[in-house]
Formats: sequence, C-alpha cells, structure tokens
Amino acid sequence: MSDCSLCKVPTLPILWSGHNFRIVLVTDQNIKGYLRLELLEHVSEIHQLSESIRQQMYILLHIIEISLVNIFHPDKINIASLGNMTPHVHWHIVSRYKQDNFFPDSIWSNPARNNRFENTQEEISNLKHQLASMIKQQDAEQAFDS
Ligand SMILES: [Zn+2]
Repeated sequence: MSDCSLCKVPTLPILWSGHNFRIVLVTDQNIKGYLRLELLEHVSEIHQLSESIRQQMYILLHIIEISLVNIFHPDKINIASLGNMTPHVHWHIVSRYKQDNFFPDSIWSNPARNNRFENTQEEISNLKHQLASMIKQQDAEQAFDS
C-alpha cells in the first residue's frame, strides 16, 4: 500500500533481511536495544498469514529476544504488536531498564525521566552478527526461508 510507512524503504538501519521479514534497529525513540520485526508484504493481521510464515515470525521473535538479552542484559523485554496507526504486521521488541525514561510504563507513555540512551557501534555490530548467526542456524535445521 502506497500510504503505508512499512511498505516504503525503511529509513532506520536494517540489521537483517530475508524473503519474508526484515529486522530494523529503532534509533529514533531514545531507547537502547529496540528492534522491530517487519513483514515485507502488506498484511494487516497475524491470523491472515500462512502457518509457515507465522512460524518463521515466532522463531524470529525468539531469536531477537535472545539476542537482545545476550547483548544488552535488560531488566525486562517488552514485545508488542499493535498496528493501529500502521496496519501492517510488525512487532516491537524492546529492551527495558529500570532507569529507562518510561519504566515501568510502556515506551509510548509520557517519559518519567529524561536521560539519553544510545546503542554503541560495538553493540550494533554484535547484534547484527548474532542475529545472522542464529538465523543461519535455524536455516540449517528447519529449512528456514531466508
Ligand atoms: Zn504496508
């Protein structure tokens, strides 16, 4: 859909891209370790996906969660699929810290603090490497389509 922001070429850094999904690093919300898993095709609801694509999606969510835990050591992981503004299947996978600007509320609430958070180049590079290697491992074991 031409008016859908997720159908356009992303302006955020792409950490991994396959046949059906891509993983982008969300850098514009002042949160460290925040990834978005985006379906490449414009589909609005998860139940409209084929079973195999849905399975890939959950495997990728799992891989993303493990990668964030390994690299960022957050106090909590938040995973959300809303899509009210952008009805195109995507997930927000967010590392949460007790000191982040929104904790314990959602990252879309009013900030309780006003600190700066930035991913280091090393963290981004480790994340890319870990995502690619875990996805590749899935490929070998389950003929994962990417
Ligand atoms: Zn779309």
